Amino acid sequence: MKKHRMLYFLFTATLSASIVMSTSACSLGDLFRPDDDDTTQTLPTEDDAQIRAVYDSYVQNCAEQGRKELSYEEWLASVKGEKGEDGNGWHYGNGTPSQALGKDGDLYLDYATWNVYTKDGGSWTLRGCIKGEKGEDGNGGEAAGNAELTIHFLELGNKYAGDCIFIQCGDVEVLIDGGSRTDSADTIERYVDQYCTDGVLEYVIVTHADQDHIAALAGDQSHKGLFERYVCKTIIDFPLTDKTTQVYKRYVAARDAEVQAGAVHYNALQCYNNEGDAKQSYSLGEGVSMNFLYNYYYDHKTSDENNYSVCMYIQQGEYRYLFTGDLEEDGERRLVANNSLAPCKLYKAGHHGSKTSSTEALLNVIRPEYVCICCCAGSPEYTSNNNNTFPTRDALSRIEKYTDNIFVTSLATNVDLSAKTWDYTSLNGNIVVKSDGSAFSVTGSNHSQKLKDTPWYLANRA
Ligand SMILES: [Zn+2]
Repeated sequence: MKKHRMLYFLFTATLSASIVMSTSACSLGDLFRPDDDDTTQTLPTEDDAQIRAVYDSYVQNCAEQGRKELSYEEWLASVKGEKGEDGNGWHYGNGTPSQALGKDGDLYLDYATWNVYTKDGGSWTLRGCIKGEKGEDGNGGEAAGNAELTIHFLELGNKYAGDCIFIQCGDVEVLIDGGSRTDSADTIERYVDQYCTDGVLEYVIVTHADQDHIAALAGDQSHKGLFERYVCKTIIDFPLTDKTTQVYKRYVAARDAEVQAGAVHYNALQCYNNEGDAKQSYSLGEGVSMNFLYNYYYDHKTSDENNYSVCMYIQQGEYRYLFTGDLEEDGERRLVANNSLAPCKLYKAGHHGSKTSSTEALLNVIRPEYVCICCCAGSPEYTSNNNNTFPTRDALSRIEKYTDNIFVTSLATNVDLSAKTWDYTSLNGNIVVKSDGSAFSVTGSNHSQKLKDTPWYLANRA
């Protein structure tokens, strides 16, 4: 089936529900009337030149993202279809639809990912992706034709808890955080360079200002930071912090030097609000987007630095991967209240598996199938109470109600809880998650056992 016929067919199929609701025929102008509070782009009036202008911006967008564009005729067929008769509005834009946009029965096309949404009961529901194999077989739906995505949860080359997550989608690379100490920069660089061959990180996301998330980004006298080692194109970090530490100051200096050298810098609130050139949703590849959520503590002060964490998810077809930094209970509760969260294929356990994160309020909504935890299991770094060492007994028992697909980067050895001394080795090691939106795998560089089957779990958490 030719592409435009495929798109046409799928739109017709996707629209069947709203066609039933149609009451009267209306013109193209009616259908594409922009909403006042629409933060996405909406098709203009029936004026052909204006429609052409929208097509031109779509072509430009394709060029920027290295995607092949549809011809004008194909594009027109894909965005018009039979909607002239259905009476319902529909919209399209570069990114996920805002809740304020549209009314029940409306349709939305995200042309960054080709995901299609419909609005029911006041909220947008993802109906499928109209590109690729699934489209060709006429099923119009789940997850296929998506770019392959690899997510690496890194070991950090020392015994301390910290986050560093490297994500690759085609030649687009995303780094979330650079913990835990400045010497981690060597470990991280060695690892990342196996995959990133051009020395460019398209996006660096920095969740919050605690050392175990920024130390390797900042660097120091003896270890160059990651900002210095890579060309970082877009840096997105936390809007608020109360930190005055040396490592935070070095982070700001290194980040600002990277901006001087040409990087673009936004905070997560600017992204969430689509302020200026900042975007709530970035396309990482075909069918794959990175989306910033609203965290109440982007613009409200708190005494808990962890709650300032940048929260975002990656959508790949119907799979969702959620990252919440070190967000704690109160932040999680507000995250659920302020966003339309959906079940997640994978969740990076908040705050290294702390007992005050991964709370039922969040888990009940995201219902994770896989959970990855960045920590040194059983280390007395923050406590001499074995139950509260990361990953904590409390967090694990809450998570286990949803899944036993739990994986952990490192393991503490030679632990002396009262003296708070320990060494480290790999548990799963570097955890590599790979998916094309339907096939899905988790592999540890050391081993790929689930946490519940490991000797550490059996001795300390069973
Ligand atoms: Zn942390």
